[in-house]
Amino acid sequence: GSEKILVKDKSDRATNEQVLDPRTRLILFKMLGRGLIERIDGCVSTGKEANVYHAVSPEGKHIALKIYKTSILVFKDRDRYVSGEFRFKSGYARNNPRKMVRLWAEKELRNLRRMKGAGLRVPEAIEVRENVLVMDFIGEDEWQASPRLKDAQIPPEQQRSLYIEILVLLRAIFHRCRLVHADFSEYNILYHQGHLWVIDVSQSIEHEHPSAFDFLRADIQNAEDFFAKQGVDTLGLTRTFNFVTRDSWVSGREETDEDAAEEIERLLAQAEAEANEPAQANGAGASGQQQEAAKPSESDEAVFAKSYIPRTLEDVYDAERDVQRVLRGEGKDLIYADITGVASIHGKANKGEGGEGGLAGVEE
Ligand code: ADP
Ligand code: MG
Repeated sequence: GSEKILVKDKSDRATNEQVLDPRTRLILFKMLGRGLIERIDGCVSTGKEANVYHAVSPEGKHIALKIYKTSILVFKDRDRYVSGEFRFKSGYARNNPRKMVRLWAEKELRNLRRMKGAGLRVPEAIEVRENVLVMDFIGEDEWQASPRLKDAQIPPEQQRSLYIEILVLLRAIFHRCRLVHADFSEYNILYHQGHLWVIDVSQSIEHEHPSAFDFLRADIQNAEDFFAKQGVDTLGLTRTFNFVTRDSWVSGREETDEDAAEEIERLLAQAEAEANEPAQANGAGASGQQQEAAKPSESDEAVFAKSYIPRTLEDVYDAERDVQRVLRGEGKDLIYADITGVASIHGKANKGEGGEGGLAGVEE
């Protein structure tokens, strides 16, 4: 195999020098030596926390190398993902940047594998060595990475079906993988072979993380905003949130993506019917009761967008904290999500996740 790490793009030299410290270069040399990769031939992306390179295996397979930067500053603002995440309970070394970065890379690999295992469209994670994550390259042709959803040329007639696909995806991540992406947006979704592929999952959190609902709401809002901008009639934040988090309506078998898509169609039809209702109902002298089930008004949506959403029953019953909130004048914005759903999700937490949960083999 080649003994040289070739990085073609000269304009990226400064960034390469930053990220490819001697230890990282050694990791790459070992990958070359083992025949995992034959060459590294271009920088696909330079980001704040990581650079992504295109590489080729000796068999000609296209590979993406995500190389996390090891500077301590970069990872400082990640604290909010870490506190409350049981997978980081031990082994999170704030004062050891290399170790911290390694944990992020390992976490991304585990999250990718969990999503892949649940049948989601994500790159296949091949391995992780310290700050280097090796995965399948998602590309339309050999050298070009597939576009981000943000940059993709999507035929207008496909917008609506992609919107449904994104909602199915959000539910699958939450309900099947028991994760919240936590940085879900048109920047972290690739449009590949007519479908949406999820990437950038190092910050994804367990769905029972205390702030899981807040991250989820932001994820949903991004999906909403993107497709509303494309002119799609969307469900709105509140309805979508309830759809993503609710218990399955399917009994006696596993819920499928088709079930979810069907349910979305039903909700969309219902939303449309309700949107047309008030005008007619007002004319007929509607009672307040009839209006109760109507589409959440814009102001309801705004309240929901800003509300604190308790994640678990313990959160719900933290009466003292809620009293404090009310005293601070925040009480009226307190929203208790569907308690049944929350309770049962919480009940299932940790089930079968034992091997996944700890950082066994990672701790020093
Ligand atoms: P970050 O946003 O933290 O820099 P991402 O994981 O989002 O890192 O990757 C940055 C960019 O690299 C993506 O927008 C995408 O263009 C490209 N990329 C990442 N992973 C892959 C992959 N497996 N295949 C092809 N391109 C990828
Ligand atoms: Mg990204």
